[in-house]
Amino acid sequence: MSTRNHATSFTENANRALLDELNWDDVQAFQDAARGFIASLDAPVITDSNGRAVWDLDAYPFLAEETAPPSVNPSLWRQSRLNALYHGLFKVTDGIYQIRGFDLSVMSIIESDNGYVVVDPLISAPTARAGMELAYKYLGRKPIVAVIYTHSHIDHWGGVKGVIDEADVNAGKVKVIAPEHFLEHAISENVIAGNVMTRRASYMYGNLLPKDPQGQVGAGLGQTTSTGQVTLIDPTDDITTTGQTLVVDGLEIVFQLTPGTEAPAEMNFLFPRYRALCMAENCTHNMHNLYTLRRAGARCQGLGALRQRGHRDVCGPLRRDLRLASLADLGRRSRSRLSQEAA
Ligand SMILES: [Zn+2]
Repeated sequence: MSTRNHATSFTENANRALLDELNWDDVQAFQDAARGFIASLDAPVITDSNGRAVWDLDAYPFLAEETAPPSVNPSLWRQSRLNALYHGLFKVTDGIYQIRGFDLSVMSIIESDNGYVVVDPLISAPTARAGMELAYKYLGRKPIVAVIYTHSHIDHWGGVKGVIDEADVNAGKVKVIAPEHFLEHAISENVIAGNVMTRRASYMYGNLLPKDPQGQVGAGLGQTTSTGQVTLIDPTDDITTTGQTLVVDGLEIVFQLTPGTEAPAEMNFLFPRYRALCMAENCTHNMHNLYTLRRAGARCQGLGALRQRGHRDVCGPLRRDLRLASLADLGRRSRSRLSQEAA
C-alpha cells in the first residue's frame, strides 16, 4: 500500500487564496442545476448484468459538506457538488429532456412526432440503459428513431447498445447520425490508441484513486467515468456540410460542422421546432481541457463560424460568458432570434 500524505502548505495556501478571489455568493449554478428535475434512481448506483457497480454516486457522501477542505481546490469542490448532488431525469424545455449525473457526460432525449431522438448515449451500455429506462418510466415508452453522436469522444457514444439494437439500425428502423470522419477518429483514439488513452484517463480523472477529500473528488465534466461495457454502432448518416438538414420522424434538425474544435469530428445542431441549439462539447460549464496532451483545439473556433452565419445573439453571450453548455441556456437566451434564423 502506498502512503497517503496530507496536502502540502503550498497547496493549502493556493486553495485558500481562491476562497478570497472568487464570488461564492453567486449560487446561480445551483439554481440552474436544480431546474426541471423530474426524478432519479433512489440510490444512484448502476450495475451491469453481473451485478457489478459500474457507476456509484453514493461513493461521494463527503460532498454533502458545503465548504471545501484545505486539500481540495474550492472550485473543484463546488463543481463536484453540482455534479454529484443533481442527478437523474430533467426537463430542459418542452420536448427536450436530459439524463444527468449517470456518467461523465449527459444524454439528451428529444421528442419527435412518434418517438425519441437520443443525443450522446454516455460511455457504457449499463449507464445509458439505466438513463433510458428512467426516461421511459416518466415520459412514456416510445421507439427511439435516431441516435446522434455529437462527436468522436467515447463519452458520447460508448453506451449506444444500451439504448438501441444494432439489428434495428441494420433494418433501417433507427438512424445513427454523426459528423463526417466520426468513425475514423472514434476508432483511432479509442481502439488503436486505446491502451494509451485508458492510462491517460486514469491520470486525468484519477478514477483509480479512493474517493475522498485526499483522493478523487470529481472530474469536472462529471463525477468520473463509468466502467461498464463500451459499445459502438456505425453511423448510417454522415453530416458533411454546414446547413445540412435532416427530418427524422417529423423533427427537423439543422447541422453545423465544427471539425477540429473540441474533437477532430464534432458538430452543433439546431431543433427549430423547440428553438433549441445543441452545442455538443464546444461549450461547457467548466474549465474543460483547455490544453491537453491530445489535439483538443481552441474552444471558440466553432463559435466564430456560428457568428459568421449570423447567429449574433448566440455568440454575443457566448463570448462574454462561457457558461453556456446546455440546450437550456441557449433556448432561454436566444429563442426568438434562433427561430427567425432557422425558418
Ligand atoms: Zn469531448
